[in-house]
Amino acid sequence: MNTIYTLADLRDGKKKTRDISPPIRLGVLGDPVAHSFSPPMQNAALQECGLDLQYAAFQITPDELPEALRLMCELDFVGLNLTVPHKIAALAFVDEADERARRIGAINTIVFQDGKSLGRDTDGPGFERAIREEFSVDLSDLRVLLLGAGGGAGRAIAYQGALENCERLVLVNRTFDKAQALARELAGYFSGPRVLGPEARLEAIPWNDPSLRRQLGRTDLVVNATTIGLQQSDASPLAHGLIAPHLMVYDLLYKKTPTRLLAAAAEAGARGANGLTMLLHQGALAFELWFDRPAPLAAMRRALDGK
Ligand code: NAP
Repeated sequence: MNTIYTLADLRDGKKKTRDISPPIRLGVLGDPVAHSFSPPMQNAALQECGLDLQYAAFQITPDELPEALRLMCELDFVGLNLTVPHKIAALAFVDEADERARRIGAINTIVFQDGKSLGRDTDGPGFERAIREEFSVDLSDLRVLLLGAGGGAGRAIAYQGALENCERLVLVNRTFDKAQALARELAGYFSGPRVLGPEARLEAIPWNDPSLRRQLGRTDLVVNATTIGLQQSDASPLAHGLIAPHLMVYDLLYKKTPTRLLAAAAEAGARGANGLTMLLHQGALAFELWFDRPAPLAAMRRALDGK
């Protein structure tokens, strides 16, 4: 079980984060954060590389985020990851962000450099690597239906699909306005024809839309980028009857037991995978940004296998 630190610990920074051994100089900020497997994975990477630093989990509410980021910069942190619900909000609080992060409108990684905070996204490329590893296919060859397109991770995945020129992208979100706005932002990437003929390559549809069954018939990969499933009592984000055997189902959530969505996929005879592979690859890319050296992927994978 991770020790969970708070804003109070950062305010008391010297004692709590600097003077413990190895000193905490990296971390993940979330609300909730206890579910995160990033600490054991990143600590395994630090150990493997002989870096005498520690990565910790910080329970930080949205109101506390700006102060937490400022304190971490002052405490000489090397970098951070951001998880639910901070990916979109954090962009406004960093000193700089690269073009990709600005376009996505969300960041999952911060690098502290010369007293400045630099915002980056590694969720998109991490997702692309995860899909190749899990299903032995390239995102560019797929028709993708994305549940939760309005969140930070959903936006990163949608942009990755656009940049990879995937065959087709259907954006589904509870707050429909966000899916529609994202579709407008991405329209330019999908203007060219692909093998599918006259069918629209980019669409936004409301949550639980009656067209979902028809859309799924024209989908190869379904992605759950919602927070549904984080709570034990959550239902599956897709009704059981909608999952057909031809689908690949990727749930960004990772849990010891299969999520409701993945259990439903298995029951339907569809292939499924959980978010551990994305966690691994986005984490490896973040490590490379922090330390400018290759991430020890095998050690990180071993740490997750033990979970
Ligand atoms: P976020 O920014 O808070 O976005 C949450 C998304 O879930 C939004 O699209 C939201 O829709 C939707 N949502 C929440 N409750 C819903 C409900 N009851 N019904 C329908 N939609 C609902 O969160 P995030 O940072 O993108 O993370 C999303 C999930 O991905 C989390 O579970 C996170 O742990 C996981 N994740 C995993 C990895 C990995 O490496 N495996 C990486 C990143 C994220 P609205 O827009 O309508 O609010």
